[in-house]
Amino acid sequence: MTIRSIAVVGAGPAGLVAAQRLSSAGHDVVVLEKSRGVGGRTSTRRSDSEARFDHGCQFVSRIDASPRDEISSWIDGGFVDRWSPRLAPGTTTPEFAGEHWSIGVPAMNSMMKHLAEGLDVRTGWRVESIDRIDAGWRLRRADSKDVVEVRQVIVAVPAVQAIELMKSTGFRHLERLEDVQFDPVWSLLVEGDGVPELPFDAYGSTTGPLKWLASQSSRPGRGPQTAWVGLASSAWSREHLEDDSMSVHDALMKSVSELTGERWTASGTVHRWRHGIVANPLGEPSLVDRSRGLIACGDWCLGPTIEHAIISAESAVEHAIGMSIG
Ligand SMILES: Cc1cc2nc3c(=O)[nH]c(=O)nc-3n(C[C@H](O)[C@H](O)[C@H](O)COP(=O)(O)OP(=O)(O)OC[C@H]3O[C@@H](n4cnc5c(N)ncnc54)[C@H](O)[C@@H]3O)c2cc1C
Repeated sequence: MTIRSIAVVGAGPAGLVAAQRLSSAGHDVVVLEKSRGVGGRTSTRRSDSEARFDHGCQFVSRIDASPRDEISSWIDGGFVDRWSPRLAPGTTTPEFAGEHWSIGVPAMNSMMKHLAEGLDVRTGWRVESIDRIDAGWRLRRADSKDVVEVRQVIVAVPAVQAIELMKSTGFRHLERLEDVQFDPVWSLLVEGDGVPELPFDAYGSTTGPLKWLASQSSRPGRGPQTAWVGLASSAWSREHLEDDSMSVHDALMKSVSELTGERWTASGTVHRWRHGIVANPLGEPSLVDRSRGLIACGDWCLGPTIEHAIISAESAVEHAIGMSIG
């Protein structure tokens, strides 16, 4: 079997930015992703009626006045545009929006699809184990005989999942990963008849079960289908984390009617982000175990946004290149 130079586990923003940079620098990179598509928490769901739901990441939030080069390149390439929704009276601007209300077009995952172009990305490839071999590491795919052998591994998945994956590797920073905490988020996706006509496109709230409600068709580049996404607050999501989908759906639909003062008779679906928003980051851009050729990165190293994930990926790339030279 050919030994590849680097495996990146996870095709969210951190994993894809790292893989793209390493590939551009001439490294032989393979990206392994458990889902059917790329994007991680920035993914977009499409319904049978072709409505698109940005049911995870809402904005390309920026943490500094000037965006990172990566985000500038998405804007220049037309993958990110401004959204100017009609806001409901009394709306609280969500803490995750940032100043610019920039979003991916035509969907939140469009930047991720762009990043994945030209890379060897294997979707549906859940890494089950990472085992030591003489030349480096053997990664095994869940429910399959498939393996990939590499010299270095970058694990770009939420911290809790990184612990699971790396616990048998001897990774020297395992304990540090345990300090990182995420808030869960329940998302509500509603479409079609039974959604009332509303005089606004977005509503942010700091009270009640729902903290955010947004019309998908008002976002640039989406289709005309009536489709809305609601996000439950961290407190409500935590309290109802293990509830069954049906009762979460019913509670959030009731909340939508209360919030808008209109009766919503449509039915929808819900999605649980168990590791949704970083609540307690690590405070370092990435974790590196040079002697083993292992790196862990992701938004959780620094904070709750895409931009934090990008900075973490940049740090991981620097270390990976340093290890391959050293
Ligand atoms: C509801 C919600 C709203 C948000 N709103 C915003 C916002 O408005 N602005 C903003 O900037 N950020 C927002 N975020 C956060 C943003 O989505 C994250 O910061 C960003 O996606 C982090 O990127 P990442 O690559 O570190 O992790 P992820 O996006 O989580 O990517 C990790 C990837 O690893 C994969 N993976 C996990 N385990 C394995 C395995 N064993 N094998 C293979 N693959 C695996 C996952 O499937 C996933 O694709 C939001 C998140 C949520 C959930």
